[in-house]
Amino acid sequence: MGILYVVATPIGNLKDITLRALEILKQVDLILAEDTRVTKKLLNQYDVKKPLKRYDEHIAERVHGEVGDRLRKGERVALVSDAGTPGISDPGSRLVRFIQEELPDAKIIPIPGPSALVTALSVSGVNADRFTFLGYPPHKKGRQTFFKKLEIIEVRPIVLYESPHRLEKTLASISEVFGEGYEIIVARELTKLHEEIFRGSMLETQSHFQGEKKKGEFVIIIP
Ligand code: SAM
Repeated sequence: MGILYVVATPIGNLKDITLRALEILKQVDLILAEDTRVTKKLLNQYDVKKPLKRYDEHIAERVHGEVGDRLRKGERVALVSDAGTPGISDPGSRLVRFIQEELPDAKIIPIPGPSALVTALSVSGVNADRFTFLGYPPHKKGRQTFFKKLEIIEVRPIVLYESPHRLEKTLASISEVFGEGYEIIVARELTKLHEEIFRGSMLETQSHFQGEKKKGEFVIIIP
């Protein structure tokens, strides 16, 4: 029976890959990637020449059959996401679940590495002995309730992911619930050229993340 490796990859800076991750990526028979273009850059950088196949939320189920066949033949398959640790706010857990259910004898091995939420927390200056991670706020349905409920969450800080085109709306919703004087932390473009860890009141944060600063990837920490 084969092995599925769940491999964490950089969240921006290509040097943030572990020696073990590189070793595994060079050994496997197939690499499943959420975004093959992003992963190709990483593989080219380290001269990894292995077959690459797309595995994202749209085609996840269609790929399961092939992965199952390969593992039955004893092959080794690696799963990577477009950034960070597979299974955190991406479809990775669906493949792991499928293998657990359909091929209980197959080994599933994690290769740990970066994750945007832990990276952001590490420089937030907020005690994160306990925290609540909620991923992306819902886009439409349940959005209002989601933000209202933030206030009653006792295990803080609360950590959110957000994309550039929804950042402004999300900051406005947080401000509505916590008030414009409430201080939060926004980590932008971690490990990349425009990395920024911003701490300020909701009012300051909203006015800071305008124009160019609105671009990139974001982790929001509500203490
Ligand atoms: N699996 C990934 C992980 O372990 O962090 C997260 C995948 S999720 C689809 C992508 C989201 O993570 C982005 O929209 C952003 O909120 C956050 N993220 C990823 N890379 C980041 C970075 N370099 N700086 C800030 N946030 C980032």
